[in-house]
Amino acid sequence: MVIDVLGVGAGFAGLYLLHRLRSLGFSTKVIESAGDVGGTWYWNRYPGARCDIESLDYSYSFDRELETEWQWSERYATQPEILRYLGYVADKYDLRRDIRFSTRVESASWDHDALLWRIRTDNGDEILSRFYIMASGCLSLPKTPDIEGLDRYRGDSYYTGRWPHDPVDFSGKRVAVVGTGSSGIQSIPIIAEQAAELTVFQRTPNFSRPAYNGPVSAAKRAAFGAGPAAYREAARWSRAGVPMEANATRALQASTQERLATYEAAYASGDLLAFGAAYADILLSPQANETVCEFLRNKIRSIVRDPETAEALCPRDHFYGAKRPCLDTSYYETYNLPHVRLVDVRKEPLRTITEKGIDTASRSFEFDAIVFATGFDAMTGPIVAVDIKGRDGQSLAAKWADGPKTYLGLTTHGFPNFFTITGPGSPSVLSNMAVSIEQHVDWVSTCLTHMREQRLDTIEPTPLAEAGWVQHVNDCADITVFPQANSWYMGANVPGKTRVFLPYIGGVGRYRAICNDVAQQNYLGLAFTGRDGARCDDGLICRLQPDVSMLLHFIESLGMPPRETMSVTEARAQSIAMRTGRPPGPDVGEIIDATLPGANGPLVYRLYRPSSRGPHPILVYFHGGGWVIGSYDSDDPFCRDLCVHSDCIVISTDYRHAPEARFPAAIDDGFAATCWIAANAEVLGGEPSKLAMCGWSAGGNIAAVVCQMARDADAPLIAGQVLINPVTDCDFTRDSYAMNGSGYLLTTSLMQWFWDHYADAADRTNPKASPLRAPDLRGLPPALVVTCEFDPLRDEGLAYAEALASAGVDVRYLPNRGQIHTSLISVDIIRSGSGARAEIAAAVRGFFQNGTFISDCRRGL
Ligand SMILES: Cc1cc2nc3c(=O)[nH]c(=O)nc-3n(C[C@H](O)[C@H](O)[C@H](O)COP(=O)(O)OP(=O)(O)OC[C@H]3O[C@@H](n4cnc5c(N)ncnc54)[C@H](O)[C@@H]3O)c2cc1C
Repeated sequence: MVIDVLGVGAGFAGLYLLHRLRSLGFSTKVIESAGDVGGTWYWNRYPGARCDIESLDYSYSFDRELETEWQWSERYATQPEILRYLGYVADKYDLRRDIRFSTRVESASWDHDALLWRIRTDNGDEILSRFYIMASGCLSLPKTPDIEGLDRYRGDSYYTGRWPHDPVDFSGKRVAVVGTGSSGIQSIPIIAEQAAELTVFQRTPNFSRPAYNGPVSAAKRAAFGAGPAAYREAARWSRAGVPMEANATRALQASTQERLATYEAAYASGDLLAFGAAYADILLSPQANETVCEFLRNKIRSIVRDPETAEALCPRDHFYGAKRPCLDTSYYETYNLPHVRLVDVRKEPLRTITEKGIDTASRSFEFDAIVFATGFDAMTGPIVAVDIKGRDGQSLAAKWADGPKTYLGLTTHGFPNFFTITGPGSPSVLSNMAVSIEQHVDWVSTCLTHMREQRLDTIEPTPLAEAGWVQHVNDCADITVFPQANSWYMGANVPGKTRVFLPYIGGVGRYRAICNDVAQQNYLGLAFTGRDGARCDDGLICRLQPDVSMLLHFIESLGMPPRETMSVTEARAQSIAMRTGRPPGPDVGEIIDATLPGANGPLVYRLYRPSSRGPHPILVYFHGGGWVIGSYDSDDPFCRDLCVHSDCIVISTDYRHAPEARFPAAIDDGFAATCWIAANAEVLGGEPSKLAMCGWSAGGNIAAVVCQMARDADAPLIAGQVLINPVTDCDFTRDSYAMNGSGYLLTTSLMQWFWDHYADAADRTNPKASPLRAPDLRGLPPALVVTCEFDPLRDEGLAYAEALASAGVDVRYLPNRGQIHTSLISVDIIRSGSGARAEIAAAVRGFFQNGTFISDCRRGL
């Protein structure tokens, strides 16, 4: 008999999957290796096991009746209570009759002729199913401790993830706990209450703080009771699956006192997510994050009396949140007890397990019992533990050997009709998993219903969609502090496992929107076959860099009128207002504001000097703003960044603006300023004849034209030019205008508005306005031309790079995937632009070091 769906696992995910699919009329069975339902909460029976997301949140929301029937006794329920809850759910919806317990799925292979999965269990059965769904859990495969001599030990050993069902009594015993992750931190205080002696072996200290557990607070009950449906909906669209106010300010913008008050409140809340939400940049900026780390280290020092033990317990090798933080009850206080000691295995490495205990490099310990709290082979472990073979016998374990490749964390190319619930590449372990599980099950159920209605037999993601998603998952992780830690999120706890960031960190709400979007766009990126033929709308669902996308949403939420509908005065005022409160950029050695002679009167400039010893090369910088808006100060954070990373003096100089001073006033001022800076290089602290040009947008246009004028005048000598999203032409017919002319801040109509203010139609084709139209580009200084994928100006930047290359100029072309016109100058706002900013700075240094600026004209886009 062929069933519609076989699910693996009877935890939170498998139970809801079974209920939902059954209610939609799909014949569904579940296989579970445990003796009963519960998953995580069946296996993890160690003392102190409890959830660390509040139970009211960490529970199903699909049935209002269930929500009213079940009342949690505590804010953070214990393992037995959560297990009772899942048992209650199984009874209420009569789920057990379709679950085969104490049975392990060993292999699953796709039969392409029959269009079904052949699933084998350890009982030797074969089950035939059209769809195969792994609801096998992210943390269900305990990691075997990588300590030599494990089987030599004669005393009692316990694994937190496979705890016995009968009570374990440590009274009067000498006990060791190996591992100080969540399970260790929860169990240590309780084991210490019983044991005669407790020795904790710690490799990596984790951040933990008090849970302040107790009854569900009146405030929480009120918030939930006021409108459960609205409360749940808020959770579904939140960052981590729990409704929570996010603080939009950045940690370093607050005063030390304000920060301390915020952190004290977060600490007192006993809420796992409170520190991550305390400021907008805690999980993004190392400097901001360090303020939390030090706050929490001080808390540890204030609790643990022995200073050496306190320091050993202070995490230093990862940022707060980059490893799953813990909530505890009296964890640090436990180390003040006379019979509890900590062994820091980084200082005193574990050598071997012996018959009687544990040998370290310097001591031998004897124990009556050893508790291994050594964690899990997370996320991918339980999936690849099953021998899964897709189309043409392709092995999933082999496909994922270099890290999991999924589309949305739900599907993977080459494995038709195969889904993973909370799979790698989905928010999963970074969220309240009850919310993420329901979202995945609902999405899959809707998808299967759609396939049934449309008479479709198979579904599978395309290679393009999958590669795009993997890229997006990495892009999201790369702007955070997470990838720097050796965490189980990175697979770093399992020897030999490829180090990649496994979950999706873009947030639960945003992820839900993406999944909905995929479905609404005719299941974009998913290929179907069916009785009526094959069907696929291929494409990428997330093309913008994640921080660019967030910025665009934020700006959209402000509801501002388009700039081109404003007067010039209003547009300038708005531009200044938008700059207030932006991150300041790095500190530089010195900043001087002064004036220099322009073509028609004095111009203000700002000089940024590096802190290293001078003299330094000088980079002349022109700001953007369509020749109409902005000033020497408008790209201040970017100029600081450039100064620090290029180790050059950066001089950002004003030029006259249109419409008051139309073309060629800006160009004449740019050239006059450059000549003056070159002539006064020594006085300014610069190295004579080490001068380069840089500009962004309209400033890139000025920098390019100044280089042409300097070449024609034989002076000043310019070592190189960096043109960032430059205006090089007045032609609006290029593809990038058609593709990116609306929705990405710089629009076609705004560009029209700039040109209209700047230059008469007849002047626009003048090479001093459109440098791409210069009759001869030979003999220009080496150039780095930088463009962004979603910029209307992208193709004219590329055209200029190509024209320079054809004229024999040494050119590098640096395209930037997923970025918009303003990305690269938005220091500490668009973190994904930091790689390009580093390349720009390196190119500037290269201008002044013979031979290091390499000719490399790349198309890339
Ligand atoms: C100690 C602990 C505390 C946690 N606390 C929280 C919390 O507070 N909040 C939160 O959001 N998350 C928490 N989690 C994460 C937790 O795993 C999830 O919240 C949730 O329970 C996962 O449900 P699941 O059904 O997806 O997987 P699981 O509960 O892990 O269930 C998967 C089941 O699949 C079975 N299985 C796997 N492979 C096979 C196979 N080949 N054949 C047959 N059966 C198989 C396993 O036996 C297991 O029972 C915690 C995890 C742990 C370990």
